[in-house]
Formats: sequence, structure tokens, C-alpha cells
Amino acid sequence: MAIKIKDIPPEGLTLEFDQRVDLLDRGTATAACKAVLNLKPDQGGIVHISGHVRSTPELECSRCLEAFPFEIDGELNIDLAPADSLDRDGEHELVHGELDMEFYQGDEIDPMEIIREQLLISIPMVPLHSPGCKGLCGVCGADLNKTECGHQRNAPGDFGAFSALKDLLKK
Ligand SMILES: [Zn+2]
Ligand SMILES: [Zn+2]
Repeated sequence: MAIKIKDIPPEGLTLEFDQRVDLLDRGTATAACKAVLNLKPDQGGIVHISGHVRSTPELECSRCLEAFPFEIDGELNIDLAPADSLDRDGEHELVHGELDMEFYQGDEIDPMEIIREQLLISIPMVPLHSPGCKGLCGVCGADLNKTECGHQRNAPGDFGAFSALKDLLKK
């Protein structure tokens, strides 16, 4: 549902969302998401967007591959500027700073895209189902959170070459 910039009243517009999004491009909208956005137009086509986004997408632990719910509950505060304002005058960057400045194409914006983007940047690069996840055994693939298979492996912080040396010394 795109919103035309010119349809946003000067006093601002509040939008509420409660729907599922296809956050991780899996082809199905699986992550329930709630959001409240305030859109406020400014000069030069800039739209201030503030609000609150909540969702609990299911992520895969990067160590043990188990799926786990990841809670996102965050504020958002961005300035959206028309993409062509960049060519017209480079001064926007100087005035506003590029920190929370994003750009839109054409004469409308898609709030759901903004919400989706906000959720995506909240997802860690290396998701862990728990900070102390022990991962999978490199030898047999057992989930070391659930079982102790007894295979030898490098302790965290151990480096391959050094542990090999340690093994040699032990013999
Ligand atoms: Zn894990
Ligand atoms: Zn094992």
C-alpha cells in the first residue's frame, strides 16, 4: 500500500499496521508484525517518519541451525527525501547529515517497505538462539546443546594449528 506524498496532510498522518511480512524472502509472509508510523511532510519533499515496529520473526541459529523466535521491538526515526533531490542540489546532505536520511523514488512511499527494512536491520548478522549456543559437532554433526558426543574439537578461542601442537606435546 503506497502513499502519495501529496496526500500526507501538513499536520501529519498516523498509520497502524498489523500484518504478516515476508521478512527473509522465503516466499511466504510468515513474520507477524505490528507497527505504528507517523508521517510528517517537510519542505523539499522530505518526509519525517517516526514510530514503533514490533515483530518476532523465526531465525535460524547460525551455530546449531535450530529455528528460534527473535524478538524485535524498536523505535524508528528517519527522514525520507526524494531521490532526485540529490541531483538537484547536494545541500540536503549538508543540512540534514546522511545519518538517518533515506530516499524514495517517484512521488510515493511504501510504508510497509520502510517497516520491512527497519526489521531487517534489527536482525543480527550472526543470529544465535542463545549467546552460549555450543553449536554442532564438527565430526558427527550432533547438536552439542542437547548431547555430548565425546568427539574432540577446538574450544572457543582455540586455533587449529595451536591445538594440533598441543596434541603433539601431549603425546
Ligand atoms: Zn544455537
Ligand atoms: Zn561428534
